Amino acid sequence: MDKPVAVVTGGARGIGAAIANALLGAGFAVAVADMDLTTAEALVASKGLPAGEFRAYALNVTDEGGVAAVFKQLQADFGRIDVLVNNAGINQDNLIMRMKIEQWQRVLDVNLTGAFLCTRAVIPVMMRQRAGRIINIASVVGEMGNAGQANYCATKAGLIGFTKAVAREVASRNITVNAVAPGYIDTEMTRSLPEAVKQEFSRNIALGRPGQPEDVAHAVAFLASPGAAYITGFVLDVNGGMYM
Ligand code: NDP
Repeated sequence: MDKPVAVVTGGARGIGAAIANALLGAGFAVAVADMDLTTAEALVASKGLPAGEFRAYALNVTDEGGVAAVFKQLQADFGRIDVLVNNAGINQDNLIMRMKIEQWQRVLDVNLTGAFLCTRAVIPVMMRQRAGRIINIASVVGEMGNAGQANYCATKAGLIGFTKAVAREVASRNITVNAVAPGYIDTEMTRSLPEAVKQEFSRNIALGRPGQPEDVAHAVAFLASPGAAYITGFVLDVNGGMYM
């Protein structure tokens, strides 16, 4: 396998699919690993690339055994893993007084424990290679908070702490760990938001518009590139100037 290999969790659609595209364009072989295998396979088929360059895997990032099995399979199929993008994420919004323990726990399981399990699975591979890049998709709301999203904000703030801790732990093996914190991006996750909330978001964006998945994907491709070799433990905001 000549090309470096990147794995994108939750890569079937939205930001993850744009990241997969950007990494293909940057010369990576890409594996998209998603709960929704049908959509992931349709994305892969749409490119018409050989399986050694673009491939779909069924993955639930909350399933410890499943994560271990998929990463073993990835190694068998590609022979190496150079980049992991922890992109899989969900939201289940509610005001704190009404938030059910299931809503709290499910969002923690996917967004935070999922990133932990995938990172833990890939680190031995990258340590053996003496090289690797891990890129965690956080969120602007992990930095500034957002009413109705205490569970989601806690996971995204947690991912930033996780990024900085793991960056220190694996730096001696030439593995970098960074986060990208998108602002309000136009995907299925945000399309279902009430119109008033969308307008409020847009009012707080200096550039005056939502971002596109590709805006986030370019930032991820940069952090995966040779030019980013000396950047680690960093949070790259991609939010159109949505600071509070
Ligand atoms: P989407 O909901 O459009 O896509 C998320 C993808 O992740 C889906 O394909 C989904 O599959 C998959 N997924 C969900 N749960 C799991 C799981 N347990 N294991 C594996 N895959 C899973 O989201 P976005 O593209 O908008 O978001 C991508 C990332 O970016 C998320 O981490 C999100 O928190 C973050 N983000 C998004 C922002 C936005 O404005 N859109 C802003 C800031 C951050 P399925 O269809 O089966 O659910």
